[in-house]
Amino acid sequence: MRAVTFQAANEVRVEEKPEPVVTTADEALIRVEVSGICGSDLHIYHGRVPVEQGFTIGHEYVGTVLEAGDAVDRVAVGDRVLGCFHTACATCVACLRGDYHRCERQRTFGHGSHLGDLQGAQAELLLVPRANLTLRRVPEGMSDEAALFAGDVMGTGYHAVAHAGMRSGDTVAVLGLGPVGLCAVQAALAGGAVRVFAIDSVAARLEMAASFGATPIHLTEEEPKKAVRSATDGRGVDVVVDAVGDPAPLAMAISLCRDAGTVSGIGAYAGKGEVPLGLAWLKGLQLRLGLANVIAHVDRVLGLIEAGRLDPAPLVTHHMKLDDAAEAYEIYDNREALKIVLTP
Ligand SMILES: [Zn+2]
Ligand SMILES: [Zn+2]
Repeated sequence: MRAVTFQAANEVRVEEKPEPVVTTADEALIRVEVSGICGSDLHIYHGRVPVEQGFTIGHEYVGTVLEAGDAVDRVAVGDRVLGCFHTACATCVACLRGDYHRCERQRTFGHGSHLGDLQGAQAELLLVPRANLTLRRVPEGMSDEAALFAGDVMGTGYHAVAHAGMRSGDTVAVLGLGPVGLCAVQAALAGGAVRVFAIDSVAARLEMAASFGATPIHLTEEEPKKAVRSATDGRGVDVVVDAVGDPAPLAMAISLCRDAGTVSGIGAYAGKGEVPLGLAWLKGLQLRLGLANVIAHVDRVLGLIEAGRLDPAPLVTHHMKLDDAAEAYEIYDNREALKIVLTP
């Protein structure tokens, strides 16, 4: 089968690889119908996240079940399914708490041996362990590319809002309008936010957020703090989502949040940085950080997409062939695309 493999920094290749086979009762083999290229794939592409040469990458996928082990009973051969970007064991202490994203035996698709040694989804075939927990049937009538978002990007945007404890009637600000930020905008509005301020420096992304119903604020051409304050009687918003994952936007999130509000950091922070902790303490803020618990949210997210309350379709800017993956990664790396969907 053909698969997109990591070769070296800034180099991926479509290679012929052996077909995976079901060897364990909880595994399913799927024929991949569509896969996505994600921001976290770029970390691999740039060599910041170490992956072995020749490892198949990709972790967003929709496919058809070709074969299933004896213990797989929630999906069946022939089902069209979507998957979550990682697997979880369902029996460790974290899983028993429902914290699947912190599973002690978590394995992430397409991230090399250090994250569970699970080959990726940018391929013709994919072996899915823990299929009962990892896979869901795609609801009737839902497109492959809409379903693709439920197991990763939309699940992550939803988590950013849910993890903040956002309530109907709240005001929200979202910093960074990449795919996750834009999904967080939708999730906040679907959850009953009365006003969502969407902050970025790319005009097209601000326009898209506005088309979803958000109030766009240009990061540098406007003054986000002033704009948010004046629209909230000087108080700031109830919830701020940092979908960037750097100290600077986190500092801005702290300044935009009202007293005793919540800052939800969904962007991937790395290393150290300075943030105004004193201000966060004085304001009595809650900081909620970390990777999204997508397995816990996937059914609600699918339900909201099915009901038309969430709609990831506008985020797909490019449809490309799996064979053109090298070009697709270049386009994505140049920030010319919001979401690229690959078809084998
Ligand atoms: Zn992803
Ligand atoms: Zn577990």
